Amino acid sequence: MKRSVFTLAAGLVYASFALSQAQQPLLSTVQAQKAPYLKTLESLVSIESGSRDREGLNKISALVHARLKALGAQVEFIEPGERIYKMYDTPERPGRMVKAVFKGNGSKKILLIAHMDTVYLKGMLAKQPFRVEGDRAYGLGIADDKQGVALIIHTLETLKQLKFKDYGQITVLLNGDEEISSPAARAYFTELGAQHDATFSCEASQVKSDRVALTTAGIAAVTLELTGKASHAGAAPELGHNALTELAFQIQQMRDLSDPSLGIKMNWTLSSAGTNRNVIPAVASASADVRVLHKEDFDTIEARVKEKLKTQQNPAVKIEMNFERRRPPMVTSDETLKMAQYAKKVYAEVGRELVLGTVAAGGGTDAAFAGLETTNPVIESMGLQGFGSHSNDDEYVLISSIEPRMYMLTKLIMDISQGKNH
Ligand SMILES: [Zn+2]
Repeated sequence: MKRSVFTLAAGLVYASFALSQAQQPLLSTVQAQKAPYLKTLESLVSIESGSRDREGLNKISALVHARLKALGAQVEFIEPGERIYKMYDTPERPGRMVKAVFKGNGSKKILLIAHMDTVYLKGMLAKQPFRVEGDRAYGLGIADDKQGVALIIHTLETLKQLKFKDYGQITVLLNGDEEISSPAARAYFTELGAQHDATFSCEASQVKSDRVALTTAGIAAVTLELTGKASHAGAAPELGHNALTELAFQIQQMRDLSDPSLGIKMNWTLSSAGTNRNVIPAVASASADVRVLHKEDFDTIEARVKEKLKTQQNPAVKIEMNFERRRPPMVTSDETLKMAQYAKKVYAEVGRELVLGTVAAGGGTDAAFAGLETTNPVIESMGLQGFGSHSNDDEYVLISSIEPRMYMLTKLIMDISQGKNH
């Protein structure tokens, strides 16, 4: 008993010591944003906005547009247009983007990004509405990525309340097509990323590791579509051209294209063929998942696949190959690393230790598009600590991470604007 009291007291002393390094009035302004932040988060989670639910995406983008406008930004919707990169799963009309521009009195330009779409299908919300249990706020898409949209809104609200205008420009770009690899938004992220001094992407961090991501893998897909000739499998198999056996040959000769020493991975993951058991299959298809650490490796692996395809077992079978660049890799530039080290200092002001994720973990990110043509700092996972992305039973964010994360993002914007980030 005595011991736990002692531990508690020591904890309080530590906490107040740590918080004493936090800047005022920034800290108290951020603290006052916690309750309104949760309200915003609830309103965002209460709108279903799956990547293929254009109606829901219209609704959520209208709400976000209004919020950013009320904060004093010039706001516009951007409809997916001719710059779209069409992939096999790209819908006819992906969600529109919301772009907001805040003009300040300084010179630095900062880009904030997050996405409004989710992986969930319409109707799932009823089973899992927004709810708070202890330190957890649950809801569909709450971590991925509605917390990020709310974080941007309330970071800007904090700056407004502080009457902070020392930046040159803060640009916000929120997209509605992240979960389908950003066919429409990618070109905008790349263009804006190169035009800004720093980019902060507000995907969630992790519960198990209070981190930001500085590097992510690039993702591509190889798809083979084979067309042969159907024939009766019993009566006249010799008159057919078997697309399935040709596919099997191609997969076999392309099974070892991974190069672990370069971080290149290529693995066959999907296939289908044929229509009936008694018909020589005229069609077959297969897809491979590709991961790379450097964008040039996309070209390397595409060339290897093309080279292999020159050899066919049955040249009468027609093969079409499609190499889709789903997401580029994000490489840690020196500037990114420096900015992340500064972010770590800022985070320590509120008693937190920021983990710098310099090894690619898991999926790709829109931040990689923003960093594609610049070495300016691009930092991913600036959002709250969250868990359970893409798992509808269990997605939540840690409420205790609202203030530290909002403090960190706001302070970074302020310090970059005033040239203090070193
Ligand atoms: Zn996301």
